[in-house]
Amino acid sequence: MEDSGRIRTAVFCGLVVTLFVLLLGQLFNLQVLDKRYHAAAEENVVKKRRTEPVRGEIYDRNGEKIAFNVVVYDLEILYVAAEKNLDTRGLAKILEIPTEEVNTRYENYLSGIENGTISKVRKYPLIRALDTTMSFRMRERLLDFPGLSLQASSRREYARHAPAHLLGYMGEINKNELNLYKEMGYRMGDYIGQGGIEAEFENSLRGKNGEAYVIEDVYGAERGKFEEGINDIKAVPGNDIYLTIDLSLQQYTRDLMREKKGSVVALNPQTGEILAIVSTPDYSLSEIMGKSRGAYFETLKESPGDPFLDRSLMGEYQPGSTFKTISALIALTNQTWSKTKSYTCKYYYPLSDNTVLKCSHSHAPAQNVGEALMHSCNPYFWEVFKKCVYGLRTESYAQALDDWGNACRRFGLGSKLLNLGLAESTGNVPWASYYDGLYGQKRWAPTAMISLGIGQGELSVTPLQMAFSYSIIANRGKDVFYPSLIRRVGKSREKRIKYNNTYKVSLSDYSAVIDGLRRAVQKGGTAEGSNIPSISFGGKTGTVEKSNQPSHSLFVGMAPLNAPEIVVAVVVENGGAGGETAAPMASLIAEKYLTGEISASRKELEYELQHKNTLVWDEE
Ligand SMILES: [Zn+2]
Repeated sequence: MEDSGRIRTAVFCGLVVTLFVLLLGQLFNLQVLDKRYHAAAEENVVKKRRTEPVRGEIYDRNGEKIAFNVVVYDLEILYVAAEKNLDTRGLAKILEIPTEEVNTRYENYLSGIENGTISKVRKYPLIRALDTTMSFRMRERLLDFPGLSLQASSRREYARHAPAHLLGYMGEINKNELNLYKEMGYRMGDYIGQGGIEAEFENSLRGKNGEAYVIEDVYGAERGKFEEGINDIKAVPGNDIYLTIDLSLQQYTRDLMREKKGSVVALNPQTGEILAIVSTPDYSLSEIMGKSRGAYFETLKESPGDPFLDRSLMGEYQPGSTFKTISALIALTNQTWSKTKSYTCKYYYPLSDNTVLKCSHSHAPAQNVGEALMHSCNPYFWEVFKKCVYGLRTESYAQALDDWGNACRRFGLGSKLLNLGLAESTGNVPWASYYDGLYGQKRWAPTAMISLGIGQGELSVTPLQMAFSYSIIANRGKDVFYPSLIRRVGKSREKRIKYNNTYKVSLSDYSAVIDGLRRAVQKGGTAEGSNIPSISFGGKTGTVEKSNQPSHSLFVGMAPLNAPEIVVAVVVENGGAGGETAAPMASLIAEKYLTGEISASRKELEYELQHKNTLVWDEE
């Protein structure tokens, strides 16, 4: 004890001495520097300038650029050198932008000067991101505008179909953000990540500011470095980020989603890595970062379908029949159903004396779970759900329904899955207490919510959850990883997070269900025509009916079935039956990923789907 105390005292003393020496050095440095600084100031002016770091870029899993920097020029204004009434109209004419836009920027600048958030003696970017042509044109006219100067800068540019919702964009820091970020060296006029990866990894992407001592003339024009820059501190560039996304698959998927509302999430079930994530309608990041940002935002705000909503993470959909796989696995695991059990569908299901539910179509009787999935027989799965929840009953129906709900939750439903700060919905797996509130305690039986058994009623999931629950099935419950989007930040590799799968389903039950997925894309299945030549592909359709509108088309598929490398969840709002739109799209995405191309026999299907328009704008 005494020893460690002595060591601590020694360390402390050492620290004090070191600090003192450092301080002395700094004092000397400042005084000497200060003298030279003033000497130079007599002729011109030496200014300490903040130098900005190069922002880190965002790449896909193969090192393809998704969000990168291009050189642009900012037109900067220095209050003390500028005329008091800036000729905004003349400026707008030279730069070919609306006068109102220049006026707004100028007025905001002046009010920033007035309230002290913008410095009078520091240059401020009045007009941003001029391209080379514009900057040349402006340079020739600078003499007409004292106090204005051009500064090389950079702005984000994007690969075609870069995932807008996922990336977020860059915008000027606002007053509230400035309060939070001031200490980190941000100031008014700075760009900062707005939403998505850009905001989530702001600190890492931004890098560290540097300092440069430059000589300026009375007009604020740079006349060279002070003492050849020996006192300068270099800015530290930001970290590049590598996503799990496969850019070419992302672009292919986005092309398929043209003129459609909905979402696609494709992931590798063996790693949890998300390969493609598309939500439509979306928006163009290049336009948001362009000259007419304001006008573009206005258009977006008024456009239908909420382009800012990330349907992949925030869209809450009834899973419909895509849920029947999970429903089956729960009943098989608690042994209230067996995989070889047949059930003859009479196309209707007598729920009570005056309620009869119907099967959506006529089909051959299902001899086992696989065939029931192939035909997506509703009565079969109503029966499965009923037997399952009744079978779970020990104390009450409420207890049984909660047990069933908890089993659903072990497939990742009802909770957030990404380990990121991105907005993500939990979806909904209802608790029994919800029905207690609706009908009164012990005043209901599970038949009242039997539609849960076919993925309807109060059940809702996000497309990401759909993909994840199927990745558990794809892996037969083993070695499952949470979905991830980031591979690497700078030099540090992101750790994948293993999913603690506590739900033990037998391998033969998984096989029975996966056999149903295989059958669904074969002749007579609900996704007939969506098989991929030479690859074993399978999945489950979902058709969620909407009043007065075409149904939502859903499908979750995987390939190759013996050891899947890709799981694809597709939701196309108003896309009709699951087998009509979502299933063939998922099969194309899987084929593209696994083989790099679409087989000749499927080119026509590909063209059709790329040009299919399922948009319905009037809200329900
Ligand atoms: Zn049926």
